[in-house]
Amino acid sequence: NFRCRSAFKLLEIDDKFRLLQPGYAVVDCGAAPGAWSQVAVQRVNSAVTDPELPRGMVVGIDLLNIPPLDGAHFLSSCDVTDHATHAKLLELLPHGKAHVILSDMAPNASGFREMDHERLITMCLSLIDLAEKILQPQGSLLCKYWDGILAHKLQETLSSVFSSVRTLKPDSSRKDSAERYFLARMYRRPIK
Ligand code: SAM
Repeated sequence: NFRCRSAFKLLEIDDKFRLLQPGYAVVDCGAAPGAWSQVAVQRVNSAVTDPELPRGMVVGIDLLNIPPLDGAHFLSSCDVTDHATHAKLLELLPHGKAHVILSDMAPNASGFREMDHERLITMCLSLIDLAEKILQPQGSLLCKYWDGILAHKLQETLSSVFSSVRTLKPDSSRKDSAERYFLARMYRRPIK
């Protein structure tokens, strides 16, 4: 029983790309009400449903309250773009590192497509700062965006720090929506 239908999008993506492995530490950005975290808990074995497999960790973050879930650690009333949230993550994660960053974040829609698009792209770009602090080398980032003129800019920026970046439109995502996902894999630290 999932808390939200969005679970099926992550299940579909993970069945195909095997992002979430037992033992992995995962950060779920924009986690409320918690359906993606439910999927992540199952796949990384953070509730130890299989004692034979390594135990992973799931940390979910949202501006809203996220009801408790066995196997997940939630940072409710927290902003993913806030440095104070980054500091909390560094404390919680094993060695301060995650294998995967997930983001299904979305701003409250204004109804103006261009404006909503730009706001979500800005939020996605902030995930690259987060990655620099907490993502393992070779780690992955999966983020939702709404398609529009700035999508190529986000893709370029992701490509500068990830060896592989692809666009996904899961079958379970409504055909007529602008919703897309970038799957960025094989993180390499930015050269400064
Ligand atoms: N993946 C979730 C699930 O399966 O249950 C659904 C996520 S919902 C589509 C988007 C969430 O992003 C909202 O709960 C919203 O509060 C959150 N959000 C938007 N901006 C955020 C921010 N700056 N920091 C944290 N969460 C944010």
